[in-house]
Amino acid sequence: MVTPEINTLADLPIPSLLVDDLVEQAQKAAAIQTTEYALGERAALTSQIKSLLQEQNAVLVAHYYTAPELQQLAEETGGLVADSLEMARFGNEHPATTLVVAGVRFMGETAKILNPEKRVLMPDAEATCSLDLECPVDIFSEFCDAHPDYTVVVYANTSAAVKARADWVVTSGIALPIVQHLAKQGKKILWAPDKHLGAYVQSVSGVQMLIWPGSCVVHEQFKADAMKALKGQHPHAAVLVHPESPAEVIEIADVVGSTTALIQAVTDLDAKEFIVATEPGIFYKMKQAAPDKVFLEAPTGGIGGSCESCIRCPWMAMNGLRNLARTLETGNDEITVEETIRKKALIPLQRMMDFAREYKISMKGKGTA
Ligand code: SF4
Repeated sequence: MVTPEINTLADLPIPSLLVDDLVEQAQKAAAIQTTEYALGERAALTSQIKSLLQEQNAVLVAHYYTAPELQQLAEETGGLVADSLEMARFGNEHPATTLVVAGVRFMGETAKILNPEKRVLMPDAEATCSLDLECPVDIFSEFCDAHPDYTVVVYANTSAAVKARADWVVTSGIALPIVQHLAKQGKKILWAPDKHLGAYVQSVSGVQMLIWPGSCVVHEQFKADAMKALKGQHPHAAVLVHPESPAEVIEIADVVGSTTALIQAVTDLDAKEFIVATEPGIFYKMKQAAPDKVFLEAPTGGIGGSCESCIRCPWMAMNGLRNLARTLETGNDEITVEETIRKKALIPLQRMMDFAREYKISMKGKGTA
């Protein structure tokens, strides 16, 4: 039995090197996708993918953090660029019988949970997420079992099996109103897996929660001191921060929000420059929304320093045109979710969507987010 006092990852029986090892493996896999294209290769791959999508009655949905060429291709072929839940919902409404999800595994699983009758493919089904890795279902279930009087609220960045163990699934956009709603009903809340998002929701809502100690390897890297120094050089820049970032980074934000809310902020605010603390794949949509504005990557290293391999999500970077063409050709990297787990995971997902509908709240949200 796991001790109920889990305050840091060190308290979990997860091999400490596991995530670091997997980051390294992902970076190697991503390097194959990001190797410069030979002359004519990109055009040939794009044209091959377009034909395969048509032939297979497939639609491409890409997350905001994927490479610009994938986002562009999704838009050019009638697909969508969005956050994870919108990707799954779009797939549900679209007549295509195959959904090709460019993103990370939990996004493919969410698409499958909501669209069981459709085939779900990914460019690389091994692309994962540190929040998912740091919340293994067996240990998490024991932790929940040790706190039977708590309502279990999990972030969308979790495996289908963890969702199946939860009472509620939330996105960053809807986390705050759901937590407030549950607290009003007198519920005690167990939150997982992102400790920073959990701490942020707790500080805004004033609701005390039992918080699992996972984190995002990308957002964890943003450094408040270096961001303040950059802000000193660009005093009129607005600071946009995703709530998966540490509290001291959130404190200096002008806007704290989900990916969708941060993209919205670049047109809502009058600022001409933005310091952006989230995965830089988001710049594709930000530049599209506000082509005359300037976007600066928030620093991750020492003062003023930024490290490309820290700021890029290693698993998002595993998605490329080369493996997208391959998955369409071979049908490999199909996402399956065992039916008992799928049905259980659908319940807390559906609960969130019903809540959003009833209270007319966007899951993309500007609120928490
Ligand atoms: S950016 Fe962070 S939260 Fe998003 S997929 Fe990568 S590791 Fe997970």
